Parts: sequence; C-alpha cells; structure tokens
Amino acid sequence: MSEFDAIFVGAGHNSLACAAHLALKGWKTGVFERGATIGGAVQTREFTLPGFRHDFGAMNLSLFAGSAFHRKYANELKAQGLEFAPVADCFASAFPDGRWFGVSNDLEKTAARIAAFSAADAATWRRLVAAFPAEAEHLFRLLGSPMSARALAGTAWNLWRKKGIAGSLDTGRLLLS
Ligand SMILES: Cc1cc2nc3c(=O)[nH]c(=O)nc-3n(C[C@H](O)[C@H](O)[C@H](O)COP(=O)(O)OP(=O)(O)OC[C@H]3O[C@@H](n4cnc5c(N)ncnc54)[C@H](O)[C@@H]3O)c2cc1C
Repeated sequence: MSEFDAIFVGAGHNSLACAAHLALKGWKTGVFERGATIGGAVQTREFTLPGFRHDFGAMNLSLFAGSAFHRKYANELKAQGLEFAPVADCFASAFPDGRWFGVSNDLEKTAARIAAFSAADAATWRRLVAAFPAEAEHLFRLLGSPMSARALAGTAWNLWRKKGIAGSLDTGRLLLS
C-alpha cells in the first residue's frame, strides 16, 4: 500500500491508459499482468507464420483513435511507437471447402464477394451500407458516451428528435441484432 497510489490488475489498454494518465499526474502506479505480454486483446504479433503480423483481438481501433485519451496523448503514444495501419481488405474467413469471404472498404468488391454466396445477402449488404450514415451519429454517440443514466437519456432524446418513434425503434432493433 505504501509503494503505489494505485494498482491495476491486468495490462490491457484500459489499465495502461488509466495508469499512464495517473502517472503523468504524479501518481505512483503499478500495473500487474499475469500474461507474458501486455496489451490484452489489443496486440499485433506474429501469431501464424514469421513475418506475418496479425491483430490478436481488436482490429478496428477507430473508437480509440477518436478517444479523449488519444487526443490528449497522441504525441507521446506516437513517440513510443503507436501506429495505426489502415487496410482496404480488412478481414476474411477461409472455409474448409477452399472458398473464402472477405470484407473490403470498396462496396462493389464486398457485394461481389457476398453475391458469390447469396444474391439476397449482397442486396441486404448494400441496403445496410446505404442506411448506415443515418445510424452512425447515434451509434457512435452511444459508444462514445459514459454509461450513465443522464448520458443514455441524452442519446435517447437526440435519437427521438431526429428519427421519431418508428426510427428510434429501428435503431434499437439494429443495436439488439
Ligand atoms: C476477438 C476480439 C475482437 C475485438 N475487436 C474489437 C474491435 O475491432 N474494436 C474494438 O474497439 N474492440 C474490439 N474488441 C474489444 C476490445 O478488445 C476490448 O474492449 C479491450 O481489449 C478491453 O480492454 P481491457 O484493457 O479492458 O481488457 P483486456 O484487453 O481484456 O485486457 C485484460 C488484461 O488483464 C490480464 N488479466 C486478467 N486477469 C488478470 C489477473 N487476475 N491478474 C493479472 N492479469 C490479469 C489479461 O491477461 C489481459 O492482458 C475485441 C475483442 C475481442 C476478444
């Protein structure tokens, strides 16, 4: 108790961000990790073959990139080697029969790949992509706000004002699915 002002169990990025923030404010912080490496579910390492680096868990780090922590400490993080790698063909699955499916940030490419499996699913993908901009504001507001009753009520109020009851129920359905 005398050695640290705060201790963190586990060295995932949430602990690391808290510990760094407090340490820069002069707190003595200790981070204790049971694994051999730090980072928790946010790590890029050679998990398959030498020379091929993969994300272990999280790969879409836009919420972190847009976070208050990153805004405040972007320079320090960059100096320590933090680098985001934008990719056009961001994830794929290989199936036992030799076929594969992958998502691209090019709508036509993705729709063509889905159509190889199902024309109906390709049409649904196009519909969801077209509808996403109207949902994005509400989804990102929810993901980026504290989980307090006040913040959630603010998000719900904003959603209802912009989309009405039927539109809000649609967004609720999307979130639940
Ligand atoms: C497969 C997968 C894909 C994901 N994709 C995304 C994505 O694309 N975008 C996104 O924003 N989020 C994604 N997430 C979620 C994101 O990774 C987590 O929200 C984030 O990693 C949570 O960080 P954390 O620091 O709270 O915990 P974690 O990253 O889970 O880290 C916890 C750490 O604590 C250690 N630990 C646990 N118990 C103990 C103990 N008793 N003693 C010592 N150490 C301990 C663990 O070993 C680990 O290192 C994904 C998660 C997974 C699993």
